[in-house]
Amino acid sequence: MGAVKKLVVVGGVAGGMSAAARARRLSEDAEIVVFERGPHVSFANCGLPYHVAGVIADRKKLLVQTPESLRARFALDVRVETEVLAIDRPAKKVLVRERATGREYREGYDALVLSPGAEPVRPPLPGMDDPRVLTLRNLEDMDRVIAAATHAALPALVVGGGYIGLEMAEALRHRGGEVVVVERLPHVMGVADPEMVASVHDELRRNGVDLRLSTSVESFEADGDALVARLSDGSRLRCGFALMAVGVRPETRLAREAGLEIGPSGGIRVDPQMRTSDRSIWAVGDAVEVKDLARESPALIPLAGPANRQGRIAADAIFGRKTRYTATQGTAIVKVFGLSFAMTGASEASLARAGRKYRRVYVHPADHATYYPGAHPISLKLLFDPEDGRILGAQAVGAAGVDKRIDVIAVAQRAGLTVFDLEDLELCYAPQFGSAKDPVNMAGFVAANVVRGDALLWEPEELETLQPGQALVDVRSAREFAAGTIPGATNLPVDDLRAAIGELPRDKELLVFCQVGFRGYVAARLLSQRGFRVRNLSGGYKRYDMWRGTAAGQAAESAREDGSPEEMEVTP
Ligand code: FAD
Repeated sequence: MGAVKKLVVVGGVAGGMSAAARARRLSEDAEIVVFERGPHVSFANCGLPYHVAGVIADRKKLLVQTPESLRARFALDVRVETEVLAIDRPAKKVLVRERATGREYREGYDALVLSPGAEPVRPPLPGMDDPRVLTLRNLEDMDRVIAAATHAALPALVVGGGYIGLEMAEALRHRGGEVVVVERLPHVMGVADPEMVASVHDELRRNGVDLRLSTSVESFEADGDALVARLSDGSRLRCGFALMAVGVRPETRLAREAGLEIGPSGGIRVDPQMRTSDRSIWAVGDAVEVKDLARESPALIPLAGPANRQGRIAADAIFGRKTRYTATQGTAIVKVFGLSFAMTGASEASLARAGRKYRRVYVHPADHATYYPGAHPISLKLLFDPEDGRILGAQAVGAAGVDKRIDVIAVAQRAGLTVFDLEDLELCYAPQFGSAKDPVNMAGFVAANVVRGDALLWEPEELETLQPGQALVDVRSAREFAAGTIPGATNLPVDDLRAAIGELPRDKELLVFCQVGFRGYVAARLLSQRGFRVRNLSGGYKRYDMWRGTAAGQAAESAREDGSPEEMEVTP
C-alpha cells in the first residue's frame, strides 16, 4: 500500500478514536474522517453506571472529548449522527447517511478502520418490545435508565449478573431504589470460577439486592404501571423497568455485508496488525476476534483496554510502523459495593473446557500487614502449568488491594513468567501497603511448592469420596475447631503437633487443614519429615467454605484466637 492520504474511521469511541488520534500523531498530512452513528464521540462508556449512581454527578464529565475539541487538537473531521451503511470495497468508498437530514453520500478512503463495537444482546422474549425493557451502551441509554429509575415506584429488575449488571445493581441501590438481579447461571460473573464469587453474592444480598441465581426471565408483559417479568421458577415479578445486561454481540453487519472474513467466534478476523481480509481495511475493538492469551484460541473479549491498544496498533500499521497485537488476556475488575473481584487470563472452568492441563492454588492473605489498622483479607486463586509453572490465570476477591495483585500477575503472565518468578518478585512494602511477603509472593510460594513436589495438596471435592484409609486433621486452635470444622475431622493444633505426634495414625493418609493454608503447610512439612503420608488443603477451611458456598467460615474467622496472623511476620 502506498502512502495513506485519507483515513476513514467507523465508530468514534474507544478503538475508533484511539486509531484516529494516533494516526494524526503519525501523519500531519493525512485527511482523517471519523463517522459516528450516535450524537457523542469519545465518551466514557465505562463511567455510565457511576452517573446513574450519582457518584459522577456532572453528566458532562462523561464526554471526554467533543468533535470541536478533536478538531482543535488533532484536526479530525468528526461527523456525528452519521451512520456508515455500506462499504464499496472495489471503489474504496463508504456509503453514509446523515441521521438528521437523511442525506446519503459516498466518502472515499485509502485506509478504513472499523471500530463499530458490540451491541447489547436483546434475547427474543415475548414482551421485549415494551419500552420499559432497557439496555445500556451509551449516554442516551443511560438517560433512559435514569428517567425510569426516577419515576418508577416499583423495583428495578436487572437481568444478567455480569459486570455491567452488577455495576448497575449497585448504582440503582445507591439511588435508593429496590433492585432484583436475575442470573441464569448459579453464580454471577460468568467468566469467573464459582467459588471466587460466592462472597460477591453475600455482598449483594447484604446491600439489599434481591439476587436470584439459576433463574432466567421468560417473558415480559405490561400490567398497568408495572412491567411484569415471568421467571423460569414460575414466579411473576412486578417491576418498574428491566435492564437487560445479558452480554454483548459484535457489530459485524458492515463487515459481513462487505464480504470481510469472520472468525469462528463471530468477530471480524484480523491479523496481528489488525488488518482484515481486505488489505485496505483494519478492524479493532469489541467487533474483532482476538487470540486468547492463555488458551491460544480465537475469542471475543470485549474490554476497553484492548480496544484502545488495538486502535493505536492499527494506526501504527497504516502509517508504516512495525507493530503487533499479540493476544488478549481478559484482565478485568468489577466493584460490587464493598468488594472487588478481578481476574486475568484463563479461569479454571475455561481451562477445563479447553482440555488444558493446569494446577490451582488458593491463598487468603491480608492486603497489608495485619498489625497495621484496616487490613482486609484477599482470596487469591492462581492457575498455572503443572510441569513448568507458567502462569495461566488468576482471580482475586476482597475489600482492598485486589487490583494491584491481579495487575502484577497480569504483567507476569504477559511476560511468560512462572510461579517461581512470582516467588522472587520484589514489590512495594510498608505496613499500610502490603506485607514483606506480598500476597503475590505467597501465591508464588504455594504454587512453586506444588510444582517442586514440596507441598502435596488435597481439594475439598475429595471429601465426597473420602476413604477409610484417610483421616482429616484440623490443625487450627481448639476455639476455631469449636466454631466450625469439616465433619469427621479431629483437632490437633499445629503448635501441639510435635508433643502429640503419637496420637496420629501412621497407617492412614492424613488430610490436614487450617484456616487459610499456611499452618496446614507447616504441619504437613513437619509430618512428612516424620514419615507420615500427608497432604494439606489448598486454601484451608476458607477454601472448604468457598466450596460449600456458604458464609460459615466467617464465624470461624472471627473466633480466631487473638487475631494472630497466619504467618509470623518477620519484618517491621
Ligand atoms: P465502542 O466504544 O462501543 O464504540 C463503537 C461506536 O461505533 C459506537 O459509538 C457506535 O455508535 C459506533 N458505530 C457502530 N456502527 C457504526 C456505523 N455503521 N456507523 C457509524 N458509527 C457506528 N470495559 C472495560 O474494560 N472496563 C469497564 O469498566 C467497562 N465498563 C463498561 C460499562 C458499560 C456500561 C459499557 C457499555 C461498556 C463497558 N466496558 C468496559 C466495555 C468497553 O466500553 C468496550 O470494550 C469498548 O468501548 C469497546 O470499544 P469499541 O471502539 O470497540 O466500541
